[in-house]
Amino acid sequence: MEAALLAWFDAHGRDLPWRRTRDPYAILVSEVMLQQTQVERVVPRYLGWLERWPTVEALAAASPADVIRAWQGLGYNRRGLNLHRAGQQIARDGWPEELTDLPGVGPYTAAAVASFAFERDVLPVDTNVRRVQERTGHAFSPRAGQALMDLGATVCLARIPRCGICPLAETCPSRGSRYEPLRKQSRFDGSFRQRRARALGLVAAAERPLADLDAEAVESLARDGLVEVEGGVVALPGEATIRA
Ligand code: SF4
Repeated sequence: MEAALLAWFDAHGRDLPWRRTRDPYAILVSEVMLQQTQVERVVPRYLGWLERWPTVEALAAASPADVIRAWQGLGYNRRGLNLHRAGQQIARDGWPEELTDLPGVGPYTAAAVASFAFERDVLPVDTNVRRVQERTGHAFSPRAGQALMDLGATVCLARIPRCGICPLAETCPSRGSRYEPLRKQSRFDGSFRQRRARALGLVAAAERPLADLDAEAVESLARDGLVEVEGGVVALPGEATIRA
């Protein structure tokens, strides 16, 4: 089954920019961006990020405010700040043995960087990989990671898998199955996440009086270190104008 999958991947795998490198920093950037953002949206942002900060040292030397600004639009802004902190840690101490010791790096992201950059023998299991494994009942080896991700993202879809074009159809016990609609993703419109994003967007453009902003959202952003509040003024970290 794995041979069929790998042959399919050779012919149909997605050509993504982070697959053309083994640079652990570049792969970390891509994986953190991909945590909660779709591939199509990540590609241009990833390329722009690496153009601006091509090395982990370059990122470490950036200000948190610049990083937060560069992250705008990707959502879940804490990821950007954590990526910056991870970059500072790596620039200072090197790559840790346990990649989960880096801020914002959970077991999946650690496995992905370990596999794609350091060529360690681990299979990163994201939702796509898990789905294909469960449906086929097959234990794939670590070298099938990228192929499983692509099969799950483009063929073995969550609700209506495209078994007719699947390279595993001959031996897959779930062939032809249909699945219940997934629980809808919580709405962004009107959510607290949107209120946070709006407040952060305003502050990223220019520091502002707290009174002009959504105080609850600002409080939550400040707790995450994304903004600082001083003398009734809200600014990105390190950017508050010194007032008399
Ligand atoms: S045959 Fe269908 S259910 Fe099985 S892996 Fe392929 S797409 Fe998924």
